[in-house]
Amino acid sequence: MPYNMPATRVLMNNLRQVMAEDGDTRSRLDHVVRLIATTMVADVCSIYVREADGALLLIATEGLRPEAVNKTRLTENEGLVGFVARTAEPIAIEDAPRHPAFSYRPETGEDPFHAFLGVPILRTGGVTGVLVVQNQTERTYGEEEIDTLQTISMVLAEIVHTLNEAPSPQSAPDRRMRGAGGGNLKGRVFCEGLGFGRAVLHDPVVPPAKFFAADQVQEAERLNQGLVDLRAAIDRMMLIDGAALGEDPRDVMETYRLLAYDTSWAEKLHEGIRAGLSAEASVDRARREHRAKLQHARDPYLRERLHDLEDLDNRLLRVLGGEEGKLLITGDESVLVARRLGPAELLEYAKAGLKGLLMEEAAASSHAAIVARALGIPAIGGIEGLTTRIEQGDYIIVDAEEGSVHIRPDDVVYDAYRSRVALRSERQAEYAKLKGLPARTLDGTDVSLMLNAGLDLDLDMLEQAGADGVGLFRTEFQFLVSESLPRLEDQISLYKRVLDRAAGRPVVFRTLDLGGDKVLPALSQLREENPALGWRSIRFALDHKGLFRRQLRALVRASGERPLTVMFPMVTIPEEYRAAKALLMEEIAWSAKKTGKQPSRLEVGVMLETPALGFAMQDLGPEVDFLSVGTNDLLQFFFAADRMTPSVSERYDLVDPAALRYLKMVAEICKAHKIRLSVCGEATASPPVALCFAALGYTSLSMAASAIGPVKQALRKVDLNAFRKGLFERMDKPNGSFRNQVLALAAEHGIDTADS
Ligand code: PEP
Ligand code: MG
Repeated sequence: MPYNMPATRVLMNNLRQVMAEDGDTRSRLDHVVRLIATTMVADVCSIYVREADGALLLIATEGLRPEAVNKTRLTENEGLVGFVARTAEPIAIEDAPRHPAFSYRPETGEDPFHAFLGVPILRTGGVTGVLVVQNQTERTYGEEEIDTLQTISMVLAEIVHTLNEAPSPQSAPDRRMRGAGGGNLKGRVFCEGLGFGRAVLHDPVVPPAKFFAADQVQEAERLNQGLVDLRAAIDRMMLIDGAALGEDPRDVMETYRLLAYDTSWAEKLHEGIRAGLSAEASVDRARREHRAKLQHARDPYLRERLHDLEDLDNRLLRVLGGEEGKLLITGDESVLVARRLGPAELLEYAKAGLKGLLMEEAAASSHAAIVARALGIPAIGGIEGLTTRIEQGDYIIVDAEEGSVHIRPDDVVYDAYRSRVALRSERQAEYAKLKGLPARTLDGTDVSLMLNAGLDLDLDMLEQAGADGVGLFRTEFQFLVSESLPRLEDQISLYKRVLDRAAGRPVVFRTLDLGGDKVLPALSQLREENPALGWRSIRFALDHKGLFRRQLRALVRASGERPLTVMFPMVTIPEEYRAAKALLMEEIAWSAKKTGKQPSRLEVGVMLETPALGFAMQDLGPEVDFLSVGTNDLLQFFFAADRMTPSVSERYDLVDPAALRYLKMVAEICKAHKIRLSVCGEATASPPVALCFAALGYTSLSMAASAIGPVKQALRKVDLNAFRKGLFERMDKPNGSFRNQVLALAAEHGIDTADS
């Protein structure tokens, strides 16, 4: 029978019946391989499944020896099957035994077969198996046959997956019947805490029941409508006011739009429908291919395009899903699971209540992580294999104290989790008792404990944590979480709300700190070799004067006649500070002329984020009111270790004699010029580190709300003069692990260092 499209449809129809049949998975697989072999006029059809170690096990065959089933196992580097799994690409070969990658397994009786067509079985996140057809004659498989086999492999992915799975947790009415034992995953803590709930997957999932279309004409229309809606949404996104951002980002957005209009993408999706798939399944098939390619692509340009394509696939799936496509966040029971997530998306989910957040990609989502912190959602990022291991509805423990995730925990693990939660609330109760008390050391040094904030949501925490004010307000957050650039009025109203809610407590507004890991959607593709060292922060602001002035104007207007504190990020040389301050002064003068109002008191400061600035402070001394150490950036530049690269970001410790000596030197210069000293990076969230800073003279510490209690408790227990003496002695003569020495010193002062 000549191979043609109707045959594909016949096959898909038959497959649909097999999927609907009762019976166990294995007998279904046997049925499927028989069907494929017959319809494709192949002598052999086999399915190999990828095991945890990467080996490929033959689990069903029509045409090879049945004894080989569940015996023949190829390593991931072996044979043509291994080749397909490794490359995640189909291969069609006329004479397989002559191919260099061919590996002969006598038990299969494979000798007489020459032509070989293998396609990867792709599921979320990667290759889970290989589907093969073989023929005795040397023949060439056509494009359409390859395509059909790829489509079938998608349906198979779901069947194969159920082979290794426990019963569906969706149907489990209570936790005890959840199909325990999904294993553990590890990641980096983004927001400390503990949470328990059921997984809600951010990337739309197409259930197998929706794989096939009943009416192809109708399905093609649905797809067309979906594409129209998607393109219209992207056109609306393009209307944002990009003028202030320059031309490059617009070009990048334009490329994204072109991809959405790309006819070959649409044609590929229609092909799926012609083969009998539903619109959703056809998009899903494209998404699997894009992801698989992404895993292998090295070229950064190609990776970005593949990311874009995957993004478009996801958007289209949501559009096609309509109301159903929206996720059901069930109040207080949900843990959000995402490969990547933007801050605006996270805010949207969080409105409905989240018990935890898990993310696969650590680097790209750091602002989602900061939003998670603002909202106090226990969050873990950088979890490899996350989306392949967790299914919709799985019960999950988010242990964002240890950085681990327990999937479908058994009762022992769950009970241990409950006792940890109890212990945590006891500790919280202890901290709550300290709320109205000052952070005063035993020997009488007062330290102000301030809050790091970026959204007005954060301000709820001021009262709750008993903070003395806001030590760092990250103004770029408003930009990151909006679809378009916030207008002057939007900025004024946010800053006013912040000042109102601070009710007279000081607020340090940090001016726009964009770039690096904090990219606006409209800027997201601006490629730089080293974004952390690139066109970011004050450098970017000074080169985008329209944008920067508008922000300064908003700050001045919002403060009216109240005190105003402004801080410039990532200043490296004095000229940058001077240029930024001059713009601020012009805005103050201009506002005074226009409105007759000016801030009752003005304080202007710099963040110490680049080592160079520390050495420039003696020149800048007379001109600044305060200096605030941004430990996150300072550390990465001091130790030359990118904070977004997990393999190096935690390699170096701030509790290190070289770093502390540098900070001591800066403190001495600042004291000579009567410059107030503070710290606003994440490092002070750890009580022993906070003690080191206080000992060096940094007596204003700004941190996440959750850290204020533990740090206050430690400060109130310490004799700071004695601690300082001990610290300086150790800095003079370090011996072995410096952190351990400091921890021992803190412990001598009665500080609990168990978690440090
Ligand atoms: C820092 O670098 O320490 C800092 C507070 O700024 P951000 O984390 O926002 O870069
Ligand atoms: Mg910084």
